[in-house]
Formats: sequence, C-alpha cells, structure tokens
Amino acid sequence: MADPRTCIRCKHQGEPTDKFCVRCAAPLINNCTHKGDIFTKKCERVNREDAAFCSGCGAPTVFHKEGFVQGYSNVQVTSTRRP
Ligand SMILES: [Zn+2]
Ligand SMILES: [Zn+2]
Repeated sequence: MADPRTCIRCKHQGEPTDKFCVRCAAPLINNCTHKGDIFTKKCERVNREDAAFCSGCGAPTVFHKEGFVQGYSNVQVTSTRRP
C-alpha cells in the first residue's frame, strides 16, 4: 500500500501512511465500523472506497457513515445498535 492517498472529500493528496486528511480531517481509509461484540471480533477490513458496507461482515463502512459513498443516501442502515 504505497499509493498516495487522495482525500475523497477535498482531493488533497496525503502521504501513503496518512489515515486522515490533513486539510479537512476526512478519513482516508474506508475501514469497517464493526467494533465487535460477544459473538464476533472487531472487524479491521479495509474496503474499497466505493463500498458502503463491509465486504467481510456487512457492517457500514467509515465512508458510508461520513456520507462519502454516493448513491446510497436512500439506504437506511437497519442496525439499531449504538456504541
Ligand atoms: Zn480532505
Ligand atoms: Zn467488517
């Protein structure tokens, strides 16, 4: 993973190791938001930047929660669990 990371919100190009945009604080990595529970472990999958839901466990992705994934705005996240 040596590619420079381009911010999905402001298009600023960050360092390959950056996790958040230094210009607008947007997350640069589309991580899964599943924090784990008594049945499953925390999911640390990194998804494609157009992924609204994790390909590993189906939980919403960080980009989806931030509203970066276009075309999914009408999809209601049915999970009622709150941290
Ligand atoms: Zn940015
Ligand atoms: Zn996941």
